[in-house]
Amino acid sequence: MNVQTPVNAAKGCLIANRWVSTAATIPVVSPSDGQRFTEIADGGAAEVEAGIAAARKAFDGGDWSKLTATERGRLLSKLGEAVTLHGEELATLEARDTGKPLSQARADMVACARYFEYYGGAADKLHGETIPFLSGYQVQAWYEPYGVTGHIIPWNYPAQMFGRSLAPALAMGNATVLKPAEEASLTPLRLAELAVEVGFPPGAINVITGRGETAGAALAAARQVDFLSFTGSPEVGVLIQTAAARNHIGCTLELGGKSPQIVFDDADLDKALPVLVGAIVQNGGQTCSAGSRALIQRSIWDRTIDLIKGRFATLTAASSEEDGDLGALISETQKARVEGFIAEAEAPLIARGQVSASAPDGGFYVAPALYGPVAEQDALAREEVFGPVLSLIPFEDEADAVRIANDTDYGLVAGVWSENGARQMRMAKALRCGQVFLNGYGAGGGIELPFGGVRKSGHGREKGFAALYEFSQLKTVVQNHG
Ligand code: NAD
Repeated sequence: MNVQTPVNAAKGCLIANRWVSTAATIPVVSPSDGQRFTEIADGGAAEVEAGIAAARKAFDGGDWSKLTATERGRLLSKLGEAVTLHGEELATLEARDTGKPLSQARADMVACARYFEYYGGAADKLHGETIPFLSGYQVQAWYEPYGVTGHIIPWNYPAQMFGRSLAPALAMGNATVLKPAEEASLTPLRLAELAVEVGFPPGAINVITGRGETAGAALAAARQVDFLSFTGSPEVGVLIQTAAARNHIGCTLELGGKSPQIVFDDADLDKALPVLVGAIVQNGGQTCSAGSRALIQRSIWDRTIDLIKGRFATLTAASSEEDGDLGALISETQKARVEGFIAEAEAPLIARGQVSASAPDGGFYVAPALYGPVAEQDALAREEVFGPVLSLIPFEDEADAVRIANDTDYGLVAGVWSENGARQMRMAKALRCGQVFLNGYGAGGGIELPFGGVRKSGHGREKGFAALYEFSQLKTVVQNHG
């Protein structure tokens, strides 16, 4: 391993605040034109081990462990400020690395900064409890960090995931090792570099780039890791949970969804429809909480379809710089996967958007596709496409809507559109998922709102105060002062 001082976002893995390069590298391709423009370190077991050792040292007596909660909070807030200050640079890097429109990358940086701001403020707010017990006893229960936390994140929102996963773990005092996705590691590397610049001590944040089967698997299996946080596919989620079980540690899994947006005949369609379409187009549909099923009450089917169809036909996939409704998909593989769903669709195609005439050749573009009525057993009604494909499904009444909405293995987010408040609340109670929007759809929602799924969508909650509980464990201390 060759150790250097931080100079550049793609110089290697960041271990104990120093760049460590590897002999092998992974090419980095711009999804907008399919061209290779840089490379990242192909970290493996050795780099993961070094990252974990650095985190261990930081946690067990290193400078990081000596900071008070307030001091940790200040560092997090400073990192949030640095993200804002470098927002345009980071957004440009993110857009180039992921293919998303520049405006969406800019919004991601606002969210990323907000994670550090929010958890910076929250770092010294988790107070624990005193518990009345026997006479002559004093009992306290306080929240402690786990120690070293391992974070494996996907390629769809690399900068946001960096903030979402690391900020609460750091706020609680854990030392972290992050494995970004091999398809999109550049902003996580740059963010870690900014963390060094604002004063995070060595070992608090370590970033090991590399492949899932090597670096990711090594991090998941490591005995020195005390807790795992994973976002990605359900298949890999099973591997992570199995690895965690072998080491008798906990994990949170955020694994995607087939989230329904449910439109009743008393809905305000002017408000609902732009949100409905936006929730599948955002990030090209490569969003765990994408609203990929629209359930439309049969009594308003024809009218609603006409309106959605009109909007869908105008949607344009374009390069990041051109800043269309959506950008290119992340990779050739993801494009082929989405095109596979389109080629095999059994439902009638209602409308197709387009790819911009000026989109560079070689980019991974897929024109948005609208299907309906999609039969309840079709792949398009049940499987996560992770692309700009919206399935329209009719329903008769409230009970039918609940039945269809809950009839997938996933359960992440749901949206309900109705002017009837009692119906909204009945639906919120009946839907099996982690987050429900009533007359809205947040595609993951704000930083403050607990977020996570049930069953195939995963378990555990991120965002909000809930994440602080996830990244800490309660210690009960019983004192006999009798
Ligand atoms: P993935 O699960 O393979 O990758 C996610 C992360 O896990 C990456 O960092 C990857 O390197 C790592 N990883 C892969 N194999 C691993 C292993 N054996 N051990 C440890 N870590 C490993 O996801 P993908 O292949 O990039 O995407 C496939 C599908 O997953 C998508 O089409 C989509 O349906 C879903 N997905 C969901 C989300 C989400 O936000 N929930 C994000 C990305 C992908």
